[in-house]
Amino acid sequence: MATAESLRPPAEARPATLSDGILRCPACGEDYLHHGRVTVYSRSEDAETVRVITTDGKTTMQETSPNRETGNPSSRRGAVCIAFSCETCGADGHLELAIVQHRGSTWLRWVRW
Ligand SMILES: [Zn+2]
Repeated sequence: MATAESLRPPAEARPATLSDGILRCPACGEDYLHHGRVTVYSRSEDAETVRVITTDGKTTMQETSPNRETGNPSSRRGAVCIAFSCETCGADGHLELAIVQHRGSTWLRWVRW
């Protein structure tokens, strides 16, 4: 079930940082990150509803919900969000990277850290 999580809007989010193609933790800057839950927000431009598919390695859920009731970080289209844990600083599943459609561009940003 989709819930409206406290994800930051893309304009306020932190750009993702790569070093030699390796993703860096937004909290500590190290590169010992492990991905977990993946959430896909599939939505046509300005559609009132969004198809949300979430998988965490054990279960997969999908539903169609009013966009405003979900955690979709894109104001007009869709997104893919990936939860991460960091071995170095102990951020355990609290990090969330988003690939967001935003005004004709695709942003790669941390929407929770
Ligand atoms: Zn870290």
